Amino acid sequence: MTDTTRQDFLDLNLFRGLGEDPVYHPPVLADRPRDWPLDRWAEAPRDLGFSDFARYQWRGLRMLKDPDTQAAYHDLMVELRPRTVIELGVYSGGSLVWFRDMAELMGFDCQVLGIDRDLSRCQIPESEMKNISLREADCSDLATFEHLRDLPHPLVFIDDAHANTFNILRWSVDHLLHEGDYFIIEDMIPYWYRYSPKLLTEYLAAFAGELSMDMVYANASSQLERGVLRRSAPKA
Ligand code: SAM
Ligand code: MG
Repeated sequence: MTDTTRQDFLDLNLFRGLGEDPVYHPPVLADRPRDWPLDRWAEAPRDLGFSDFARYQWRGLRMLKDPDTQAAYHDLMVELRPRTVIELGVYSGGSLVWFRDMAELMGFDCQVLGIDRDLSRCQIPESEMKNISLREADCSDLATFEHLRDLPHPLVFIDDAHANTFNILRWSVDHLLHEGDYFIIEDMIPYWYRYSPKLLTEYLAAFAGELSMDMVYANASSQLERGVLRRSAPKA
């Protein structure tokens, strides 16, 4: 039963796009049989019949990246062959395993690092942690990133936590990103543009001398919309 007396309201931003449940569940069809009779082929519904985003998974772990986004990251992995992928926002950890597996399948060494202020929802089994490291820390504190300075390049830095993004971007440009490395802001650009268009435009313009938008990937999926930034000039 729903508890209508609760006082401990959580920040719903924590659950942005998450389905509020870190565990992957196979799709359940409530409104139709799974085996549709072929003598009624023309009447078969053409919608999925279940929530698509909650269904996205990688090897049984929930993954909050849709297929278009996975395809774009696949292409980026092929093109860049990153030695390091850092992702802010772990949640169930499916995307960390996905990046690790892609690198392994493509045959290059890549360390994958996940940072989240709450790792209690991470579902990666101990046996699946090869080349993956986790750190419980808050992105609002820039000291969280100090240990990242000496990682191998090329490097892809993904913000999927959406806290303190532009200060982290400033820190990354000043201390981390080499020419050709990526900083990717997932999911948020359309919302920020809707509610704070002037500030967003101003914030992005502050990096004009150091970063550019990579138009191969910047419109490849709605989750990556205009948030795929590449270090364009040599580090000062
Ligand atoms: N990257 C995952 C994927 O693609 O499957 C999903 C990450 S989920 C969208 C966002 C995560 O960001 C949540 O697990 C939440 O705990 C984390 N988060 C939110 N605010 C944070 C903060 N200030 N510092 C660190 N992590 C934060
Ligand atoms: Mg995301």
